[in-house]
Amino acid sequence: MTFDAETRMQLLFALRSKGVTEHRVLDAMERVDRGLFVRGIFADRSYDDMPLPIECGQTISQPSVVGLMTQALDVSPRDKVLEIGTGSGYQAAVLSHLARRVYTMDRHRRLVRAAREVLESLDIANVTVISGDGGHGLPEQSPFDRILVTAAAEDPPPALLAQLREGGIMVVPVGQSDHVQTLLKVTRHADGFDYEELRPVRFVPLVEGMGDD
Ligand code: SAH
Repeated sequence: MTFDAETRMQLLFALRSKGVTEHRVLDAMERVDRGLFVRGIFADRSYDDMPLPIECGQTISQPSVVGLMTQALDVSPRDKVLEIGTGSGYQAAVLSHLARRVYTMDRHRRLVRAAREVLESLDIANVTVISGDGGHGLPEQSPFDRILVTAAAEDPPPALLAQLREGGIMVVPVGQSDHVQTLLKVTRHADGFDYEELRPVRFVPLVEGMGDD
């Protein structure tokens, strides 16, 4: 199967029916061929609206969840964005079409290498993929206009809250890792943070420290 006109129409239909309605987000997602980010035996399911296994026991998120999270993040073309949980690199590729600059981190070096390769092959030049424990964020590039966490934390990590610019938005799934979690939208104001619960989601856990591969 290829990312042809018909497949793209089906993807857009699935996204809209799940509540992804913003044109900029839909355009960005139409530009990224998810099939390039899924390897092995699941490759032929790349265009279905479902999460799929990737290397290192991780998952590439469901396209409609990528769309809803991206929409909630409300990215503008001048934004510097931090993503925690590169995984396949698919979400970072979508963000690259919406933001000025994207930094994305993963604790598995193998995933970082694979994501770098596919993003390079797509000539995406405004994304930097970094190996590291995202729970500490990336202080040297902070503050960020937007932060997207694509692994579930028990609470929004304090180091990430500290690296969010005033007026900035962070989207993060919170809750126990083996349960359904809640997608949280955090907005930083001059005098504190606003928390809005968006919807139930299910993500792999945010794990401390580096992975061993
Ligand atoms: N956004 C990805 C899917 C993320 S899956 C995509 O588009 O494909 C969650 C990812 O978070 C996994 O790759 C996992 O290795 C990573 N992760 C978990 N804990 C982490 C941590 N502390 N720091 C960085 N990455 C982490």
